[in-house]
Amino acid sequence: MPVYLDYNATTPLSAVASDALLPWLGRPANPMSLHRWGRAAAMAIDHARAQVAEAMNWHREGVLFTSGATEANATVLSTGRWAVSAIEHPSVAVHGALFLPANAQGICLPEHAPDLSGMDGVSIMLANNETGVVQPISEWSAFCRARGLRLHVDAAQGPGKVSCKTDADFMTISAHKFGGPQGVGALLYRQAPPILLAGGPQERSRRAGTHNVAGIVGMGAAAAAITLQQPELRDRLESALIAQGGRVAGAGAERLPNTLCIGFDGIDAQDLVIALDLAGIGISAGSACSSGSPKPSTVLKAMQFPGSAVRFSLGQGTTAAEIDETIQATTRILGQLRYID
Ligand code: PLP
Repeated sequence: MPVYLDYNATTPLSAVASDALLPWLGRPANPMSLHRWGRAAAMAIDHARAQVAEAMNWHREGVLFTSGATEANATVLSTGRWAVSAIEHPSVAVHGALFLPANAQGICLPEHAPDLSGMDGVSIMLANNETGVVQPISEWSAFCRARGLRLHVDAAQGPGKVSCKTDADFMTISAHKFGGPQGVGALLYRQAPPILLAGGPQERSRRAGTHNVAGIVGMGAAAAAITLQQPELRDRLESALIAQGGRVAGAGAERLPNTLCIGFDGIDAQDLVIALDLAGIGISAGSACSSGSPKPSTVLKAMQFPGSAVRFSLGQGTTAAEIDETIQATTRILGQLRYID
């Protein structure tokens, strides 16, 4: 049986989310309509908004549904000047007016920030998608508050892996990272965000366009079912691969319990990803977004991590047998690749 270990790229739709959303695919559900079908859809969206708010420790009036984290990030960051960490996902990095350095462990610390005069806000991710390194959000929050700067947190990799409780001004999430459907996410806000799409009155006129009712319902159900993953299986994989000469990116830092980003001297990450795929094991080299390209990962570069690295990211459904199979296959393939070299 193939083994999927790329949950940071996307997770399968959970049974709870699938059960909740499927009926909505067959209904005429426009929540802006005043009749019973419309009212039922509006109530379903309200319910999902409450589920997302509760799971994220947010107030429900501050939950704006979008098509995903990319759109939520763009909504906040498209106005004003933002200092962003050097390890952000491309959907944030593209809006950076200034970059904040990360240390060798992949942590972006406020004490290393350059002069931020002229900036309107700071954007720091909750946890990095490639290394899993969790960022010091409460320190950034204090830093921003003391300077009158807004704080945006891309929390796409947080739900189901780490506590997402912050007092940031804005936070973004994406349903398919925690068992919800693809193409739906949310911007969580405390201060009114800019208008992303003008037109109809949806989402308090901030994001016009008919709601993705089924997607939103699925996202709410997935959010309500969130439980935190445990690190045991990742740790077992990590110890076994360190014994094979692996070097962990972000070693010693607080990391997501499901993520292992690891490099091996003399082994090209792409070669390892391809060989593991042929063996039936799905992982990625750096992030999914950059894994199709031979360019080195900007995250690993920012950390001055030598060489390339692969990312194993485990999910709720990952079993001990799958991890044992992954350890055996990786060990065998490393031997073959080293022999070829
Ligand atoms: N931010 C982070 C940290 C991510 O890992 C991702 C997805 O890989 C995104 C944003 C973008 O999410 P989406 O593609 O669902 O918009």
